[in-house]
Amino acid sequence: MECGSFRNCSAPICPMVDNRAAWFPGDPVCVMQHPPEWVERHRRIARKVKPGVGVFTRRMLERDCRITKGMKGIDPERPLKDWPAMEEKWLEAHPEITPEEREEMISRLPKGKGFL
Ligand code: SF4
Repeated sequence: MECGSFRNCSAPICPMVDNRAAWFPGDPVCVMQHPPEWVERHRRIARKVKPGVGVFTRRMLERDCRITKGMKGIDPERPLKDWPAMEEKWLEAHPEITPEEREEMISRLPKGKGFL
């Protein structure tokens, strides 16, 4: 995986760096071409949610769950020591999409529209 933007990029979460950064809606998102699937999901989340709905960790962004306009992150005002438990709770509340659910979601899309 290579990225020509590495030196100038200000996205806090990068698929080429394994760190514990977090993303606030409104922050830049990775713009690399041909990114991993979770970065495509991150871009969809960035299009749907507004600033002020909490913070998203990389594990949350990697979760292949339903993405909605009402999606919220975890509370950034809580102490950092609480974040792992909040992250776990968030992941429990946002389960992976099953193949059956994906088929059903695709069947509801207008013809010619891309998906997930
Ligand atoms: S976040 Fe994406 S665009 Fe930015 S340096 Fe990493 S791979 Fe490149």
